[in-house]
Amino acid sequence: MDLNKIILSDEARKELVNDRRWLHAHPEEGWCEFETTWFIVRRLRSLGLEVLAGIDVIEPDAVMGRNEALVLAAQQRAIEHGVPKEFLESLSGYTGAMAILRTGRPGPVTALRFDIDALPIEETDDPQHEANAGHFRSQNPGFSHACGHDGHAAIGLALCRWLSENREQLKGTVKILFQPAEEGVRGAAAMAAKGIVDDVDWFAGGHIGCSAKLGDVGVSHFGYLATTKFDLEFFGQSAAAGSPEKGRSALMCAAAACLSLGSLPGHSQGITRVQIGKFISGTGRNIIADHAYM
Ligand SMILES: [Zn+2]
Repeated sequence: MDLNKIILSDEARKELVNDRRWLHAHPEEGWCEFETTWFIVRRLRSLGLEVLAGIDVIEPDAVMGRNEALVLAAQQRAIEHGVPKEFLESLSGYTGAMAILRTGRPGPVTALRFDIDALPIEETDDPQHEANAGHFRSQNPGFSHACGHDGHAAIGLALCRWLSENREQLKGTVKILFQPAEEGVRGAAAMAAKGIVDDVDWFAGGHIGCSAKLGDVGVSHFGYLATTKFDLEFFGQSAAAGSPEKGRSALMCAAAACLSLGSLPGHSQGITRVQIGKFISGTGRNIIADHAYM
């Protein structure tokens, strides 16, 4: 099809702006995006798209960094804000959604990913701030869409609308993923582990950035901003500090590994970065540490 035809109608553009502002006013932390998921699912259904959500797009065994207390509080808040109980139950405690458009015509499976979570950052009180001036600032104290995922989710919905309106001109299958918990890189693995993208031929994700001018799109090779996280554990043998030869210090070993990793690129100009963000070891100052964790 003619790529020049991929433009939004004025009405769709208005809806995109309104969606982004609603999402901006309702920021939810990773794995807590229950209101956000309801907002997205309701819209996707109204567009006549096949929709999966919650437990149907998330593999619990692959979930990282989910705080149960925050999740329960978020579910409660969602109910108070009018999200139907039956919908929350259908999610089985997990957020996120996927829209599927099957054109019925042969063609590749294309997937596009949009993240939906917010950050635990208080939004500024500066009256010049667009969200304050425009009256759509965060209504969730302590949280805000400081990373632009409100924009991502709104773009995803606008795309879904476009796909739905233009389905007769398309072929193959399109999957649009609304991924929870991007911050801390926690959510993608659980969606992948569910198997919902196993059949995908082409996959793309994106992020709004401040280094591009309005209207600019930067395209990168695969792996951009991809990260992998490791928990490293060291096991040694404890002994009194006075006779260290009777022990094996996991702390010393981990410290050596930590410093060695520090010799790998640790700045943002290269293509790779390695960091140890946390180091825990030792039980007492006069005891050889038998365990270390980084
Ligand atoms: Zn982000």
